[in-house]
Amino acid sequence: MKVLVINAGSSSLKYQLYNMEDESVLAKGLVERIGMDSSILTHKPTNKEEVTEVSEILEHTTAIRKVLDKLTDKEHGVLNSVDEIQAIGHRVVHGGETFKGSALVTGEVKAEIRRLFDLAPLHNPPAIMGINAAEKNMPGVPQVVAFDTAFHQTMEEKVFLYPIPRVLYKKHHVRRYGAHGTSHQYVSKAAAAYLERPIEDLKIITCHIGNGASLTAVEGGVSVDTSMGLTPLEGLMMGTRSGDLDPAVVTFVMNKEELSISEVNSMLNKHSGLLAISGVSSDMRDITDGMEAGEANSTLAFEMYEYRLRKYIGAYAAAMNGVDVIVFTAGVGENSVVVREKVCQNLSYLGVEIDPELNKIRSGEPRRISSANSKVEVLVVPTNEELVIARDTNRIVQEAKQAQ
Ligand code: AMP
Repeated sequence: MKVLVINAGSSSLKYQLYNMEDESVLAKGLVERIGMDSSILTHKPTNKEEVTEVSEILEHTTAIRKVLDKLTDKEHGVLNSVDEIQAIGHRVVHGGETFKGSALVTGEVKAEIRRLFDLAPLHNPPAIMGINAAEKNMPGVPQVVAFDTAFHQTMEEKVFLYPIPRVLYKKHHVRRYGAHGTSHQYVSKAAAAYLERPIEDLKIITCHIGNGASLTAVEGGVSVDTSMGLTPLEGLMMGTRSGDLDPAVVTFVMNKEELSISEVNSMLNKHSGLLAISGVSSDMRDITDGMEAGEANSTLAFEMYEYRLRKYIGAYAAAMNGVDVIVFTAGVGENSVVVREKVCQNLSYLGVEIDPELNKIRSGEPRRISSANSKVEVLVVPTNEELVIARDTNRIVQEAKQAQ
């Protein structure tokens, strides 16, 4: 089965086409600046040259049509006909408490995603645009939705509730949901497979640290705690997000600076984190370059980032009463030798010891960076959220066919 995986944002649309016979990627790409002039489509067929096309793409239906044109193009295509695409998988950020796993798209499922707009006003509406656009371009092709929150639905009430009046949970569903679930699930499973140990026996801390960043405590294969909350703002210090702070900071600053709700939201989501402290960049490469050059603000930004990350690892070791495996993934986790080194240096009380040489090796495969003496396995596992979505889509569509 060939599965097209779509990740629709408000002005962008990423795609990957999989051949599920061998889980190979046939092509991938990105449409940027949808709804603006000069939209850019970048298409990369596997084993062929990347192509870029600039045109006016006003909405998602046209974006998907252009993607399908590229996938079937004589020169740059990988398909003879669009009919070869037998299923479509979509990434959706918020599944609320309804979705505990991926689901086949039906009218009811779409209505439920719409009901959840309140909880993810920036992210769920574009997902619906992507689903409708795919439906228009490929009528009758089954679609599946995979949710960033679903993996964390196993968290217990004592973990997911905030200690605030319970009426807010009942009335407005205010609770912790987490995010990056697809990634945490994938890398925890891949870590157990790499170690050739049953995941049921393992206490794993997965560190998904990219531009957005979250940690998950995975015990026996299920998420027991995760650092993001009602929204992706809670938890670690990130590229442009603050992560944890005293909630009174928000009202205090709003009062002193006369900020509106949207202004304070923008401050905490887009103008905080590494960017705010370094005054230079939200990108860890720039921060470590600045630190190496002896620049004080970048050094402080790095130290705060590392300290907060390490505190969370300690918290999750406490939450599970131990840790067998620590996994680093996503842009920073997979690539930053120095972040991994500094975090692990200060986890010696847990028996963590990394091998500096193994830590420097780069490969696209799961690998161990802990030394033979380490009491905790420390791994780098490249994440692959699209593959999880493709697998779920394949499985759910096959099951639906068999049930017919
Ligand atoms: P992601 O959100 O997973 O795509 O991660 C993107 C982030 O990864 C970038 O903003 C960088 O901060 C970080 N990153 C990518 N490559 C490197 C690298 N070689 N060293 C340090 N950080 C990196």
